[in-house]
Amino acid sequence: MRRKLAAGNWKMNGTAAALSELEELARSFPNPSIDVLICPPATLLYRAAETVRGTDITVGGQNCHAAISGAHTGDISADMLVDAGANAVILGHSERREDHGEQNEDVRAKARVAMDAGLKAIVCVGESLEQREAANTLDIIGGQLSGSIPDQSTGENLIVAYEPIWAIGTGKVPTLDEIGEVHDFIRTRLERRFGEGVGRSVRLLYGGSVKPSNASDIFAVSNVDGALVGGASLKAQDFSGIIDALQKA
Ligand code: PEP
Repeated sequence: MRRKLAAGNWKMNGTAAALSELEELARSFPNPSIDVLICPPATLLYRAAETVRGTDITVGGQNCHAAISGAHTGDISADMLVDAGANAVILGHSERREDHGEQNEDVRAKARVAMDAGLKAIVCVGESLEQREAANTLDIIGGQLSGSIPDQSTGENLIVAYEPIWAIGTGKVPTLDEIGEVHDFIRTRLERRFGEGVGRSVRLLYGGSVKPSNASDIFAVSNVDGALVGGASLKAQDFSGIIDALQKA
């Protein structure tokens, strides 16, 4: 049985004032029946961890370096995320792949150090609009999966997020059939590579313009174990609607 997960990605949004949203969330869901994770900017990570202390909500990072430590000005290691209170890290988000030229092998190296540090790696995959229109979606996702996911992956340390790039922050969402097709494909690929036991235990999140109004429909799709949410995770009220929908799914 895979435990459902609602994960929020605050991206480069939020200063200390934003912690009040997390306080409200923690007040509303001290013991959710699903996993709830918030990934704030690194500057807020420690305070976010303190804010949710004593509840079942957890916090995570949005990136880490592939090296354990060293001369990498401005970067953050997996151990530093753990030290600040994280239990997970988002890796290979399309904005990192686009803004920082991250390739599949970079994501895989980061996932390896993250897992070694005890973090859950949320590895993001997703196609562009051009790739979808050219009917290349499954090829692209297949390549990202085999290139970005390390061999040491298990149902405990790996979560895969399917995030079509054209759906992120746009209000556009694939059809439920399109989401189901990709999630079933990811599940099959994981089972083939890691065996049925591990392949079936990895949680698969959908990400891209998830809102309280469309969450229930998306959560009813096969092999959707939760969501990675950007914009709608910034306000406790919006994210609460998504958590509610997932708790009922
Ligand atoms: C994201 O960037 O991970 C994301 C899913 O963003 P949004 O929910 O705003 O589309």
